[in-house]
Amino acid sequence: MLGPPGAGKGTQAEVFAREFGLPKISTGDILREEMQSGSELGRAVKAVMNRGELVGDQLIIGIVRERLARPDAVPGFVLDGFPRTVPQAEALDGLMGERDPLIVVEMQVADEEIVRRVKSRRVCSVCGASVSAFGDRPHAVKRCQNCGGSLVTRADDTETVVRERLKVYWRETRPMIEYYRDRPTFRRLNGAQAPESVRHDLEAAVFAVAEGLKLVVPPRRPA
Ligand code: AMP
Repeated sequence: MLGPPGAGKGTQAEVFAREFGLPKISTGDILREEMQSGSELGRAVKAVMNRGELVGDQLIIGIVRERLARPDAVPGFVLDGFPRTVPQAEALDGLMGERDPLIVVEMQVADEEIVRRVKSRRVCSVCGASVSAFGDRPHAVKRCQNCGGSLVTRADDTETVVRERLKVYWRETRPMIEYYRDRPTFRRLNGAQAPESVRHDLEAAVFAVAEGLKLVVPPRRPA
């Protein structure tokens, strides 16, 4: 899943992964867990993340290599927040080996909408779920609807840091999208719609690619 910060990648990846019984692999979540646990890695990346910059390619590629090698990722996986640079995309191709080709979906959302969303985003301090800003009154919601954990603002969700993350996105990540653009497995969708419509378009995109290439999509799990 590709797109700017706050495009809804995490939310959509979570729903899609749950529906098809696949692991959702979010490099941002992995790094935040490391920060929370106070590990050496977490301490090393904290300042970079809080400034809205990207952590080094080799470090992230190593994390993803190790995560994709785990047994639960064998039937497939949903990647959220990786790759973000051309070297990461090239490394991911190398990691795919004999697996089915990647299905790459870009969620498009205009910059000003991103800033509006991210400023009002709250995340659960326990399970990491996001409270979406669309239509709701996120400030009025005090507890996570999944697990009851308290909701907090991410350190990198301030307006200044979000604008920096958008700059980084246009400079480092947008050129990477060109890397995928001509593949038959690439699709683009409008991420500025209501979450239910994005979800619908995402599933339609994945099924269209899978059908065209005769790829097997795991069976849908009962709700
Ligand atoms: P996210 O939760 O995906 O918005 O990621 C939060 C922060 O983690 C980013 O602003 C980066 O500092 C770092 N990060 C996450 N994924 C990557 C990646 N693939 N490459 C470099 N830095 C990353």
